[in-house]
Amino acid sequence: MTDQNNPAARVYACPGCKTSIVWDSANPAKPFCSEKCKNQDFIAWANEDHAIPGSPVYEDILSSDLENH
Ligand SMILES: [Zn+2]
Repeated sequence: MTDQNNPAARVYACPGCKTSIVWDSANPAKPFCSEKCKNQDFIAWANEDHAIPGSPVYEDILSSDLENH
């Protein structure tokens, strides 16, 4: 991407509502279009199970490793 000086390149989709918005470095909610979207996304993230797949397996490996030594 070499069009950093192209104003059109600063238009992007809000991760929350997918609305096309213009990048505003002064927007405290960026990359979201608003604080509302930012908060909604966080709530959705917190309500879903975002645990890293395989994490319990790692714990099992570590546990058995400790027991075997
Ligand atoms: Zn939005």
